[in-house]
Amino acid sequence: MVGTACPLRVGLIKINRLVLIQALRETPVSPDPYRSWGRYPQARQRVRFQYRRQDPLPLPADETESVLPFGNGRSYGDVCLNDGATLIDARPLDRIIAFDPATSVLRCEAGVLLAEILTLGVPHGWFPPVTPGTRFVTLGGAIANDVHGKNHHRAGTFGRHVRAFELLRSDGSRRVCSPTENPGLYRATIGGLGLTGLITWAEIRLRAVATPLISQETLRFEDLDAFFALSEESDQDYEHTVAWVDSLAVGKNLGRGVFIRGNHAQGIPADPPKPPRVRLRIPCDLPPAAIGHAPLKLFNAAFYRSHPTRWQKKRVHYASFFYPLDGIGDWNRIYGSRGFLQYQCVIPEAQAREGIREILERVAGAGTGSFLAVLKRFGDLPSPGLLSFPLPGVTLALDFPNRGRKTWDLLAGLDAVVRRAGGRLYPAKDARMAAADFQRGYPDWHRLEALRDPRFDSGFRRRVHGAET
Ligand SMILES: Cc1cc2nc3c(=O)[nH]c(=O)nc-3n(C[C@H](O)[C@H](O)[C@H](O)COP(=O)(O)OP(=O)(O)OC[C@H]3O[C@@H](n4cnc5c(N)ncnc54)[C@H](O)[C@@H]3O)c2cc1C
Repeated sequence: MVGTACPLRVGLIKINRLVLIQALRETPVSPDPYRSWGRYPQARQRVRFQYRRQDPLPLPADETESVLPFGNGRSYGDVCLNDGATLIDARPLDRIIAFDPATSVLRCEAGVLLAEILTLGVPHGWFPPVTPGTRFVTLGGAIANDVHGKNHHRAGTFGRHVRAFELLRSDGSRRVCSPTENPGLYRATIGGLGLTGLITWAEIRLRAVATPLISQETLRFEDLDAFFALSEESDQDYEHTVAWVDSLAVGKNLGRGVFIRGNHAQGIPADPPKPPRVRLRIPCDLPPAAIGHAPLKLFNAAFYRSHPTRWQKKRVHYASFFYPLDGIGDWNRIYGSRGFLQYQCVIPEAQAREGIREILERVAGAGTGSFLAVLKRFGDLPSPGLLSFPLPGVTLALDFPNRGRKTWDLLAGLDAVVRRAGGRLYPAKDARMAAADFQRGYPDWHRLEALRDPRFDSGFRRRVHGAET
């Protein structure tokens, strides 16, 4: 790295420890730090820590026991779980190594959270190139799931902005991977679900921003056709676009929702909006009635009507725009002690209207609905990753409380729609997809398998390889 004289680089390194400690304190701590976000499935694992990137991999003495890196557990299902075996907690790898504003390249350890990159970077005008809907994810986790954000139509996935990383394998070797050095491992590790080795550090390219603010515009729309029209129009001029959809609306209201679009703001107003603070924390697992049909219908209708029929424009802090759910600590507990399942699919462009319509009809017809129902049109920028989730088309994400057989049957019906439309499900959100659906949706899985580290495994991998039923 170059640029030792630049103020930001010096600033980052000098204030690194102080600011990181503060940022970590702000990070909500889950009651059980080695669960996934959906709290299903449950897994029992031994945990080892990777304290320093120079240390050897902390492998169990039993050579038959597998390991899996663990980031911050913000995956919903079992890609970050390794039932009956070992997790390597990568969060102690929390150091910023260097930043060069001339190239906008940041090198840091893989356990650094996006929240920490934002805390350090935004005051100096730097922002992650792609961000998911929570900032409490590690750099390693963002690479291993090749996450996407509201700007997929402009920036593609996170993996497109990863210049290089170091992979620590179970044979003790360290491989620096980039598009030109170990390119096979580079492609397999981006979206590689933690199976190719432990990422110790990575280099990403940040994007410049003038302010911490987003010029946000919101509008409610009346049906699915309106969503498609708004997406097409907004993707031309707005870097970030997404929609919330009322998953209980039926008939002529099917697919109604709220469209949200925004660009990074250029100037700071005299009285800039403040960053939101964590105001609310769910203190315990809520009873199932709290998220039943009646409260959900009321909530959805009220939320829909609280938005205007003409574009409402305002400047908001980036945290309100990108991370509204981070404002409610432990919000996953509203689904109760049995946990919940997120269902995120992508339907290719040509089948998107019909496929999404049918899924929404089935969900509304089952009367279950979903608090969180997000629609987003993906662009066509390819990812370097072998198993990256996005396809040109439309993605829909829905949350369902785990009500056992009833939920499973509904989701099996949705699988059939996705299958017919040539779509696929997102491993980062998944806890139940069938091996056949995974292998059809990700035809390159054999290539990842060939480069997998033989000591690395996960509950997800065993399931989608048919090793578990
Ligand atoms: C509220 C919320 C909103 C979300 N919104 C989005 C969204 O908009 N878009 C999106 O794409 N995702 C989204 N997600 C999912 C989340 O971004 C991903 O699951 C992310 O990968 C989680 O990162 P993590 O650090 O918590 O990793 P974990 O969940 O702990 O692990 C994820 C994977 O990364 C691997 N891994 C972790 N660290 C390393 C390492 N150092 N080396 C190698 N492998 C490693 C693990 O083995 C596992 O396979 C959202 C999640 C939540 C809770």
